[in-house]
Amino acid sequence: MPLISMKKMLKDAQKRNYAIGSFNAINLDMVRGIIEAAEEENSPVIICHAEVHFQYTPLGKIAPILINEAQDADVPVAVLLDHGKTFSSIMKAMQLGFNGIMFDGSRLSLAENIEKTAEIVKIAHELDVSVEAELGHVSRPEGGGAEDDEDAAKEEHERLHTKPGQVSEFVEKTGVDCLAVAFGTAHGIYLSEPQLDFDRLAQLKEATDVPLVMHGGSGLSEEEFQKSIDKGICKVNYYTGMAFKATNDIKEKLNQTQENVYYHDMMMWSIESFKKDVRESLRRFDSNDKV
Ligand SMILES: [Zn+2]
Repeated sequence: MPLISMKKMLKDAQKRNYAIGSFNAINLDMVRGIIEAAEEENSPVIICHAEVHFQYTPLGKIAPILINEAQDADVPVAVLLDHGKTFSSIMKAMQLGFNGIMFDGSRLSLAENIEKTAEIVKIAHELDVSVEAELGHVSRPEGGGAEDDEDAAKEEHERLHTKPGQVSEFVEKTGVDCLAVAFGTAHGIYLSEPQLDFDRLAQLKEATDVPLVMHGGSGLSEEEFQKSIDKGICKVNYYTGMAFKATNDIKEKLNQTQENVYYHDMMMWSIESFKKDVRESLRRFDSNDKV
């Protein structure tokens, strides 16, 4: 089916109290695992590619794969540029046919984040492309990396939490379709137990009608996901857990197998692993049977 608008998907999720999974896909195996999972769960899904992953798969090489697989799917799929940092990669993604982009201005001052996000929204909306922005800052880049000092890292996370008082101004001045917020989650692998600030999340939801987005979903418990969705999260980004699990599954299979293993065996194992993890995630987000 044709690509489905992320904005439309998230509005339905908001109305019916579930979350759409947004999964980073850096190659065809990942895309196949994600889309097969969504089809088996009868769930809408977002497939995305993050600017920080361009070093593994350039945008121009992955775009036709993501778009083609999305159009071939039997369930609604949106194709999103994740954590777009530069104006040129955002423009290129739209040119290549992505129907959603995230502009990550979370490291900028509030005024600059508003100005740059608004500029991108103006162009994107002319082209019918949905826009996600980030207010506050979810720490650590996609793909891992760890801060050395745990306490300093924690303090830093708290300082960067989204401030409810800034939300309505941000949304009004930029016109974004959904908003990534920081309330205690972190990208990559958690160094200590995540401390999610649900009171803050409830206040953020109170401050705006636009769907809220959670980044850094790898490693949260079932209850934490459920509570986050109940308090207003309509989109969950997920990558790290899926990437680790696939490697561990392959390691285990290699250790168990006595016969010759070919590259295509590993390829099929990885697709199976991605699929299993994504199916579980979609059920966790309650987006199964929502098509
Ligand atoms: Zn993220």
